[in-house]
Parts: sequence; structure tokens; C-alpha cells
Amino acid sequence: MKLILLGTSGYHPNDHRQTACLMLPELGIVLDAGTAMYRARKFLATPDLDIFLTHAHLDHVIGITYLIDVLRDKNMRRVTVHAESDKLVAIDEHLFAEALFPVKPPCEFRALSGPVELDQGGRLTYFPLEHPGGAIGFRLDWPGHSMAYVTDTTARDDSAYLAAIRGVDLLVHECYFPDSMQELATLTGHSVATPVARLASRAGVGRLVLVHVDPMVDEPDALKLDSARAIFANTQQGRDWMEIEF
Ligand SMILES: [Zn+2]
Ligand SMILES: [Zn+2]
Repeated sequence: MKLILLGTSGYHPNDHRQTACLMLPELGIVLDAGTAMYRARKFLATPDLDIFLTHAHLDHVIGITYLIDVLRDKNMRRVTVHAESDKLVAIDEHLFAEALFPVKPPCEFRALSGPVELDQGGRLTYFPLEHPGGAIGFRLDWPGHSMAYVTDTTARDDSAYLAAIRGVDLLVHECYFPDSMQELATLTGHSVATPVARLASRAGVGRLVLVHVDPMVDEPDALKLDSARAIFANTQQGRDWMEIEF
């Protein structure tokens, strides 16, 4: 099963990273619709597309307005944007306000109301995260493969979502800042490396890939991962265009 990290930046893009957007092309699944959403066009391979949103902050939803171009001439059978109902209302009222973006893209909005069945015998479940305005994390399970996507939250040793991500093959988790910036991370509802690594270790995941990285620090080891790897060895910093088999 293949996951492509189309966008791995935090709040805004920089010269090397776009904002949150992950894609499973074989399944027609996109997780978050940040500025990297325009890149999904080249990977569209299914007649249906399901876009799941963690929350409605702009760095995760602005790409819904790009769908007009992403889907142009693609003859899609169905495109659905899934999110919690209050987030869909906010997107509809504000992102698609006449003064901001008056044209609705060719997709339907569907409020999440429990697990969603996926192709190839899969199932998506979601769980609440601690973040200003609220956010959810996703867990996707297929026979023999599993992953979780947790972004925009502050990882702690007692984070309630640990139970929800237990044992996944692949954990894609946000890590906005290096350990030295814990205070700012907590204030803004984001994570630093060591608590995320500890969580990955305690949850017994197979592999940890860090995304939603501070766009102000554009260097290869922005997160200073040595200490995280001492806790959970299979830790990698995600980068745009990274393809992950799990
Ligand atoms: Zn956010
Ligand atoms: Zn964000």
C-alpha cells in the first residue's frame, strides 16, 4: 500500500514544502487539503476521490478551492469531502463566502458520523485531538496494513489518542518544532520531537514519519532528530513527494 506525502509543511509553504496533504493514490484517498492539494492531480487513478479533513484551519483546507483545477477534465464519478459537521459548516460559510471564493468545486460534503468503509476491505476511524478549535486524527486499517495520521496536536505522555494508534504499521505524526521550543508548541497546539517519539514507542507502531514541520526552518535536520531516534529508532522526517510503502 502506498502513501505519498504531497505536503509536509506547517502553517505556510516554503521553497521546499507545501502544507498538509497526504494521498493514497490506489485507494483514491486524500488526507487534508492544504496547499499541496494541487499536486494530487497528477496521482489521480480512481473514479472516486475521498478527502478526509482533520480540521478546518486554512493550512488544511485551502486546497479544497483548488479542486476546480485538480479535477478539470478528469471525469470523476464522485468526489466527497469528509469532516466533522461543524468544520464543514465553517468551510461552507467562510471559505466559500461570496467575497472569498464564490465558486463551489464539483464535490459533495459529508459529515463524519462513525467509521467509514474503504476499498480493499479497509476501514477509517477517527478520534479527537487537543488543538485550538478541535481536530481529529485518523486511523486506516486494511487486512495486513495499517496507518494513522495525527496532526495539529500536542503529544504528551498521557495523550488519550495513544490507544487509538496502538500497533499501526505507519504513524504519520506532526512535529512542528525541535525539543527546545516546547513552550511555543504547547501554546500553539503543536508537538516537539521527543514526546512524539515516546508516544510512538509506547504505542508500538512500526515506523514514525514526522510532518507539519516549521516552515521557518528550512534545513534537512530541522527537528534535530538524534534524541527522538534514541527513543524510537525508526523515526524519519517526512519531506514533500516522499513515497512510503506500508
Ligand atoms: Zn491547526
Ligand atoms: Zn496545521
